[in-house]
Amino acid sequence: MASYDVIVIGAGPGGYVSAIRCAQLGLKTAIVEGRETLGGTCLNVGCIPSKALLHATHQLHEAEHNFAKMGLKGKSPSVDWNQMKAYKDEVIGQNTGGVEFLMKKNKIDWLKGWASIPAAGKVKVGDDIHETKNIVIASGSVPSALPGVTVDNDAGVVVDSTGALELPKVPKKMVVIGAGVIGLELGSVYARLGSEVTVVEYMDAVCPGMDKDVQRTFKKILEKQGLTFVMGAAVQGVEASKTKAKVKYQPKAGGDEQVIDADVVLVATGRKPYAEGLGLDALGVEMTQRGQIAVNAQWQTNVPGIYAIGDVIEGPMLAHKAEDEGMAAAEVIAGKHGHVNYGVIPGVVYTTPEVATVGATEDALKAEGRKIKVGKFNFMGNGRAKAVGQGEGFVKLIADAETDRVLGAAIIGPAAGDLIHEICVGMEFGASAEDIALTCHAHPTFSEAVREAALALGDGAIHS
Ligand code: FAD
Repeated sequence: MASYDVIVIGAGPGGYVSAIRCAQLGLKTAIVEGRETLGGTCLNVGCIPSKALLHATHQLHEAEHNFAKMGLKGKSPSVDWNQMKAYKDEVIGQNTGGVEFLMKKNKIDWLKGWASIPAAGKVKVGDDIHETKNIVIASGSVPSALPGVTVDNDAGVVVDSTGALELPKVPKKMVVIGAGVIGLELGSVYARLGSEVTVVEYMDAVCPGMDKDVQRTFKKILEKQGLTFVMGAAVQGVEASKTKAKVKYQPKAGGDEQVIDADVVLVATGRKPYAEGLGLDALGVEMTQRGQIAVNAQWQTNVPGIYAIGDVIEGPMLAHKAEDEGMAAAEVIAGKHGHVNYGVIPGVVYTTPEVATVGATEDALKAEGRKIKVGKFNFMGNGRAKAVGQGEGFVKLIADAETDRVLGAAIIGPAAGDLIHEICVGMEFGASAEDIALTCHAHPTFSEAVREAALALGDGAIHS
């Protein structure tokens, strides 16, 4: 069998990006993937298909709710759900095909099948054992289970996010368990398609851990879009028949058990690291208490020559975090310096409006006793946002009260997922809020709202 400098296990955004960087750095590289296509969770059943459906249903929402007032009159489009899924599949195919092209371009061998590690320096795929100096485990994550709830994506009644991307028809009533990013994105898709969507959440706020102002505004906006929320509800179980389900929950505030009927229940209560079948136990690879592979600051496990990155290790389960770790681990393997700044990893929710955050929250900084100042600017004061009918939401910028250094931001509004990067770059360069405020921003752009929030931290925003 061939022998390699690096074998990467798992071709998600962490794994395939790591493999490319390894190859670029002159290392003989192979990647192992058990799925039929490359790209991992993100490209096959995660980021990309969900964004394709969000995009398609956003167009529908615009046509139904906003076209007429702009003078665009006439029949709204009708939904051909099978065609919409075909569109989503085409988008997936373009992306996974693109990764396959990149593997070939970079002369990375794709070893097809499920890998195990019989010993350090060896990777078994099927009956073949390949020799390698280094192994990068990028085996990702899978949806986590909820006690009392059996997911069956094929039956299509109680599903996880993977099943929700493939429902045979648009349900009349959908219950989403979990008001996190995945639940709200997919809940939005179905609400726009006409489903009655009820989101049941154990905590008292959506997107736990996010800026509180954003949580409140986000929930209100989603309610206006037709989603219903049951907060502080502990789901006890789901009873499913062939076509219907009953979700039972106990209100945390007390009272009797409640039941909600649904045609489809989406269980979106989080994801867990996936390392099954790799043989890590026998190798003595240390794991964290939460089932993640334990690594040091160089993404090395306790077994020399074995690295791990992405969703299977600690940290936010995000594609771009996995990619950054993939590149950094490759640099380390090549004897260079690899670095990821975990303080500046943006998080985005791709609903309309989008929500984006980076750095510390106002609450966390206050709890630390840090002296901070907060600048806020509403999109209602932004000409471009009004021109496109998206004046809801705001930019919140947080800076150190003494040094003016930007410590974090939370944005809810148009293009928030893009706007956040101005702040990320600023934070990487140690920018002060004044640096952003003194930077000329083109008019009329959404990004002027970021500048105005920075101005609000100084002598005051102009348009509020
Ligand atoms: P994965 O993408 O999970 O890839 C791991 C790969 O390893 C899989 O293909 C698996 O088949 C393979 N594998 C595992 N074990 C083996 C083995 N033994 N042998 C061979 N192959 C193996 N993140 C964002 O940043 N933005 C988003 O908008 C976003 N949206 C999402 C929407 C949904 C519905 C979901 C489910 C997730 C979303 N995520 C999003 C999260 C994102 O998909 C993950 O954070 C990201 O895919 C993690 O990358 P990874 O490379 O660590 O692992």
